[in-house]
Amino acid sequence: MPTFVRTDKCDGCKGQDKTACMYICPHDLMSLDKDGSKTGHAMKAWNQEPEQCWECYSCVKICPQNAIEVRHYADIVPLGGSVQPLRGSDSIMWTIKFRNGTLKRFKFPIRTTAEGSISPYGGKPMPKVSELSLPGVFTKEVMGGYRPGRDGELLRVTK
Ligand code: SF4
Ligand code: SF4
Repeated sequence: MPTFVRTDKCDGCKGQDKTACMYICPHDLMSLDKDGSKTGHAMKAWNQEPEQCWECYSCVKICPQNAIEVRHYADIVPLGGSVQPLRGSDSIMWTIKFRNGTLKRFKFPIRTTAEGSISPYGGKPMPKVSELSLPGVFTKEVMGGYRPGRDGELLRVTK
């Protein structure tokens, strides 16, 4: 079941050309209806092809206004229930609403490093794009060439 946008919460990412939900959707489904001609709601995002949505929750988690929700399968979340995440810089809070009104919240850490501190290459050299299709590029350029594994480097050694 696809996502839908709460028009009372969405602020169109303050009029940016590419909104957070458009940026993150791996299926390119989210769109900003700038003039309201598609949905009747100007400057609000919408899921333009809901049948293609695989409920990956990426847009739900990234939306800064918590304006995107997911219509769930009736057998997982019966009518009236909802599962809504709220992502912070170091944790995510899931709010589960049951059909009878019961609310449960679960908070989980999502990082072991400070946000923005990741070094994607970790000091390794940049790959040469022209050589990416050659066999052995990683072991040659990054690992310094092939060598057999050593016992001390194995996770478990059985004798
Ligand atoms: Fe609206 Fe949220 Fe999408 Fe921004 S990310 S356009 S606030 S639904
Ligand atoms: Fe795209 Fe995933 Fe959001 Fe569906 S749940 S609209 S596939 S980001």
